[in-house]
Amino acid sequence: MRIFRDDKADLKQIRAESILILGYGSQGRAFGLNLRDTGLNPTICLKSNSRSKKTAIEDNFDIITPSQIDSRYSLIIFLIPDHIHGDFFERYLAGRIRDDATLVFAHAYSIHFGLIKPSPKADIILVAPHGPGIDLRQKYLDKGGLSCFIAEYQNNSGKAIKRALALAKAIGATKAGVFLTTFEHEAIGDIFGEQVLLCGGLSELVRKAYTIMVKNGIPPENAYLETAHQIDLLAGLIKRYGIHGMSERISKTALYGMSQTSDKIIDTAAEKRFERIFKQIKAGKFARQWQDEYKNDLKNLKEFSKSLKSDRLEKTSKRMRSLLKGKRQK
Ligand code: NAP
Ligand code: MG
Repeated sequence: MRIFRDDKADLKQIRAESILILGYGSQGRAFGLNLRDTGLNPTICLKSNSRSKKTAIEDNFDIITPSQIDSRYSLIIFLIPDHIHGDFFERYLAGRIRDDATLVFAHAYSIHFGLIKPSPKADIILVAPHGPGIDLRQKYLDKGGLSCFIAEYQNNSGKAIKRALALAKAIGATKAGVFLTTFEHEAIGDIFGEQVLLCGGLSELVRKAYTIMVKNGIPPENAYLETAHQIDLLAGLIKRYGIHGMSERISKTALYGMSQTSDKIIDTAAEKRFERIFKQIKAGKFARQWQDEYKNDLKNLKEFSKSLKSDRLEKTSKRMRSLLKGKRQK
């Protein structure tokens, strides 16, 4: 995989662009502030009733509403939720923006799975930071930068990757490293990683481990401290030293236990399920289901969120967080 740093990126590639950022949430604010501190002048597009409007005004940005989008803007950065890109594009962008505008995405989902069908004359690029906006902003301020992916999907100008690199530089990412990928790999990799490990897998492992302990008589506080409370420590060791490095830093009892249980927990049946999930994501089945759920007013998703909120672990975790901060229990 190719990696680019500061010396390969030239801000000249985007200096003359008229930049519009759609959304002012986690990434929108970080992109906006970093671009401005780099000397560019983005405008922010927000709904008139947007919750972030006050912050964008306090941050002193020029703000327009979606119905004011027109052909003035030559570089448009999509930092609104991925599942609404299709609707937003149809309603506010199609036929109103320049055919040859550069469209920038921070996740390849909506382009790769065909939610948006922009003009074939547009440049379509990816600049996807490896972390939330708060880190993107903080690392820019600390002069370290947060790494990111870049990719091109359409390159009519012949400058798509140069523009992506310039934008990556403007948000500070070239300081940390910019990795060249494809829309397909980023879209599938991001979604698979979230589902199998980072979000779906990890939370369910924590929840089930906690529940079994409590069911078998271990006090909830004790069960919490042996599960949710310590995952960041182990994840941190894996990130810093690798799995082998982590294994050298835990107790021998923990290591022996790990050797006995790892492939019993994630066994070949689980591996087959991972494969099936991967295939469904790749075939676009997950994206179709997700868009159907969106059209269905997110009814199942709201139920799921409710069930997470009422989970027993949630109550213990809230109590323990405040106990550990030294606050009195209510
Ligand atoms: P976010 O924090 O949820 O912010 C979304 C912004 O879009 C908010 O300003 C929100 O308005 C606005 N918005 C929501 N619904 C809208 C609608 N129907 N019409 C117009 N505007 C609407 O999103 P985000 O996490 O920054 O994600 C933005 C992009 O970055 C996504 O493509 C995501 O995949 C990508 N990304 C995110 C992360 C991350 O860690 N967050 C990391 C890498 C890439 P309000 O101001 O009213 O809330
Ligand atoms: Mg993601």
